[in-house]
Amino acid sequence: MLRNFFIQLSTSESARSFTTHFGPARQLARRFVAGETLDEAVAVVKELNSRGIKAILNHVGESVTTPAEASAAADEFQAILQRIRTEGLDADISLKPSHVGLGFGRDFCFENMAGVVKTARDLGISVEMDIEASPDVDDTLAIYHRLLDTFDCDIRQAIQTYLFRTPADVQKIIEAGGGIRLVKGAYQESPAIAYQRRDEIRQASFRVIEMMLSPEAVAKGAYLALGSHDPVLIEALLRTANRCGLSPEQFEIQMLLGVRRDEQQRLADLGYQVRVYVPFGTAWYPYFMRRLAERPANVFFIGRAFLGA
Ligand SMILES: Cc1cc2nc3c(=O)[nH]c(=O)nc-3n(C[C@H](O)[C@H](O)[C@H](O)COP(=O)(O)OP(=O)(O)OC[C@H]3O[C@@H](n4cnc5c(N)ncnc54)[C@H](O)[C@@H]3O)c2cc1C
Repeated sequence: MLRNFFIQLSTSESARSFTTHFGPARQLARRFVAGETLDEAVAVVKELNSRGIKAILNHVGESVTTPAEASAAADEFQAILQRIRTEGLDADISLKPSHVGLGFGRDFCFENMAGVVKTARDLGISVEMDIEASPDVDDTLAIYHRLLDTFDCDIRQAIQTYLFRTPADVQKIIEAGGGIRLVKGAYQESPAIAYQRRDEIRQASFRVIEMMLSPEAVAKGAYLALGSHDPVLIEALLRTANRCGLSPEQFEIQMLLGVRRDEQQRLADLGYQVRVYVPFGTAWYPYFMRRLAERPANVFFIGRAFLGA
């Protein structure tokens, strides 16, 4: 119930205005968001890299209201790519389709994405695409496949295991030799289209891990990044990779900035590829609310600060 409450708050304008001006909430957000500027995010990435951890840079923003804003967002990602190269960071980028214009049609979003992907390819940097709420999934996957067909480079698509449709989507990506970031899913979806129970979502994740690490999929060039903090899923990934005879360079584990930091380091120290999602920017509010939805206990820190305890 609390999860749904925070997901609904993520779209409320009055809650956004209150939270972004409320000191303790801003302070807690800093655990999950690198800062408001690219300079702050670069400092966080350098610190992660110094500890053997890779990064995904994400300039936060979603559902822009004009095509000009969407194109400006795509330009910003071009600048991030250049900065990754000039600073020699071990990082890639991730974009939300709605941030770069999905609301203005597939073709418009594709053109914005294509500009970014072309620059990334020229600089030798991977690109990841986030996945948003279910009404956007068809368009997002269509754009992903078109990008994969157009540019022969490393583009990875986030895929949500809670959706019933996922095995078919994953099979199509395997056939295309693509890569995925497998996540449970952070939005509120109907029981008509998505698993609701934790155990069902885990079982669905196990099935996708098996699909992506199978010798047939790996031979086609498929690549799996597991985006999860769940010890049961991480263990399943490592066990399956071991059984399939894969080396640590053939898959990776991704986590969010500020979540299970000790585990990030432990896995990196064991020699696994660990990549941390580093969001930054002024539009951090909806991202922050989805993090509270995943672990409502986080909100007690704000309450305690509010009461001065
Ligand atoms: C790199 C990355 C990228 C993602 N990209 C997307 C995307 O594109 N689209 C999308 O829908 N979702 C995305 N997600 C979010 C994902 O869908 C889940 O909502 C989120 O990862 C929580 O699920 P979990 O697998 O970590 O397991 P959970 O069972 O939720 O968490 C396992 C344990 O991790 C810890 N934990 C998890 N979340 C938090 C938190 N917020 N604060 C503190 N502790 C926490 C807790 O100890 C918890 O017990 C992404 C997640 C990651 C890691």
